[in-house]
Amino acid sequence: MDLAEEGRPDLTESQRAVYAAEIPKAELHVHIEGCLSLELLFRLAAKNRVRLPFASIEEAYKAYQFTSLSDFLDSYYLATKVLVTEDDFRELALCYMANAYNDGVCHAEISFDPQAHLSRGVSLETVLNGLRKGLKQGKSKYGISTMLIMCFHRDKEARDALACLDKVRPYASWISGVGLDSAEAGYPAAPFREVFRRAKAMGLRCTAHAGEEEGCAQNITESLDVLGCERIDHGIQCIKDRQLLERLVREKIPLTVCPISNAALRVVPSLKEHPARDMLHSGLKITLNSDDPPYNGPAIISAYWAGIGAAYKAAATHLGFTRGEILQVAINSIEASWLSADQKKHYLKQIAFFDQQFGENDGMPPAQSGDVYDVEAAEGE
Ligand SMILES: [Zn+2]
Repeated sequence: MDLAEEGRPDLTESQRAVYAAEIPKAELHVHIEGCLSLELLFRLAAKNRVRLPFASIEEAYKAYQFTSLSDFLDSYYLATKVLVTEDDFRELALCYMANAYNDGVCHAEISFDPQAHLSRGVSLETVLNGLRKGLKQGKSKYGISTMLIMCFHRDKEARDALACLDKVRPYASWISGVGLDSAEAGYPAAPFREVFRRAKAMGLRCTAHAGEEEGCAQNITESLDVLGCERIDHGIQCIKDRQLLERLVREKIPLTVCPISNAALRVVPSLKEHPARDMLHSGLKITLNSDDPPYNGPAIISAYWAGIGAAYKAAATHLGFTRGEILQVAINSIEASWLSADQKKHYLKQIAFFDQQFGENDGMPPAQSGDVYDVEAAEGE
């Protein structure tokens, strides 16, 4: 493992927390519907006359204490009902972009769940038009490049996913890849073989949630061998399967790990017991991500928003990541992204610049380099 810190004195814990929060990074595992801040949730509910089971923001904040993934999903799908118009999706995307900017995100590959909207009569066009507008506004305001990943629900029939894939055909150039999410235990990846085969034929990249919940390590193998995924979302259960872990190391499969989410949904007993650092030391190519920021903050870090900055900070403060390990994870996030080689080179340079300046600045974050990269312009080169 080329941890970039041999022989360099580490920072204090508080300096490491600043370093972790501010280092330029790519976010590869975040659900846009999981970015409904409580403020936006209540505002859109009032506008669209949707009844929420909470009387106030404070009440919802207190209620965001989950006992499992399925317990969380009940709240998650209920909240998506406030998203009705194109402008609602635009606001949602912009809400993520503003927070991502504060978290040092330079590039984001953002998942969305079309089935949660199609089933309510909200068209794919409404969802995609709104998200694209918000992401475009966010890009010009914050300089963050983005891609969209269309996720299928693994707890629904594969034919639903196929129908969804057909619907997206006219807009296929607007999305970069497909994924598989929602409840995992009892829902194997294999039935989605044909969906992923067709997605690949459309030129889309492939990832899948797998090995998030206890006893689901097999889903990681299926996602690689049956779906042909090049990246795995979560994947933490591989830590209990030596053979699988060694394969993931050998094949350099990136894992998009979400420590605060795993603690919030009780996939791990506590944040401190999260295996992220052991995974990194085992040679796995892990990245750190948020998953669903407003849902995971209240129970774990007593905050309204547990974004990717908080996930990196938690690595520094709760999981014992050194400066070099944080740097390695930030580098991994760019290398594991779906950006072109040139785009990756650009962002890796930004990370190196940050790291160098941080050291010369007595542990204080460097000023922004002001070097905003135009991914779309570069793509046209
Ligand atoms: Zn997720």
